[in-house]
Amino acid sequence: MSTLLISDLHLDETRPGLVDVLLRFLAGPAREARALCILGDLFEAWVGDDGAEDAALSVADALRSLGSSGVEVGFIHGNRDFLLGADYAARCRMRRRPDPSVIDLGGVPTLLCHGDTLCVGDRAYLAFRRQVRDPQWQAQFLAQPLAARRAYAAQARAASAAHQSAQPVEIGDVDTDAVVGTFRLYGVTRMIHGHTHRPAVHAVEVDGRRCERIVLADWRDDGEALRVGDDGSITRIALR
Ligand code: MN
Repeated sequence: MSTLLISDLHLDETRPGLVDVLLRFLAGPAREARALCILGDLFEAWVGDDGAEDAALSVADALRSLGSSGVEVGFIHGNRDFLLGADYAARCRMRRRPDPSVIDLGGVPTLLCHGDTLCVGDRAYLAFRRQVRDPQWQAQFLAQPLAARRAYAAQARAASAAHQSAQPVEIGDVDTDAVVGTFRLYGVTRMIHGHTHRPAVHAVEVDGRRCERIVLADWRDDGEALRVGDDGSITRIALR
């Protein structure tokens, strides 16, 4: 039995085709796996579980059905859907895991994370991240009316787009020292993350150990899942 990993779907109401790709995946190939790990940015934006729209509700039904069929579903927050809460997770029958989490995948202790914490070059983003991951900030934000939260999120996205376009590249890549430091701190030889939208497998040498950093693909017109087999082997699966 394999484990499947996906990230950076960035689903919203404007991309129904991509929601359909996910629903077909959850009703089909995902059923063959032992577990499905979603490594963040499942949704383009999340302003609270009470703001879940039709796309998110159909995704919840499909995830719940997958979970009921015996597949364990895990979720790590991304920088877009960091407010995805206990109610929605329960509705999906998925377990929220901390970022990072180390789990055994095919006999290999593997660090899973969204990937934004590896991009330490963007100081302004890291300051924003510290603010919005603070439980007190989140409680205050979620206490506002839904319309106010939606307005705030739209404004934050516009500010983020302006900030990104002022940067040399659209989305920053990981910082090498942060990657090496993470491998060292957690003592693992494999990490899997998304966020950068730069799918690849990178070999990294850490204190004489050969380590591997696997980057998931984002979903554009099509989707992609990464399968980790029982022998630790890696396969990318195209989803349409
Ligand atoms: Mn991201």
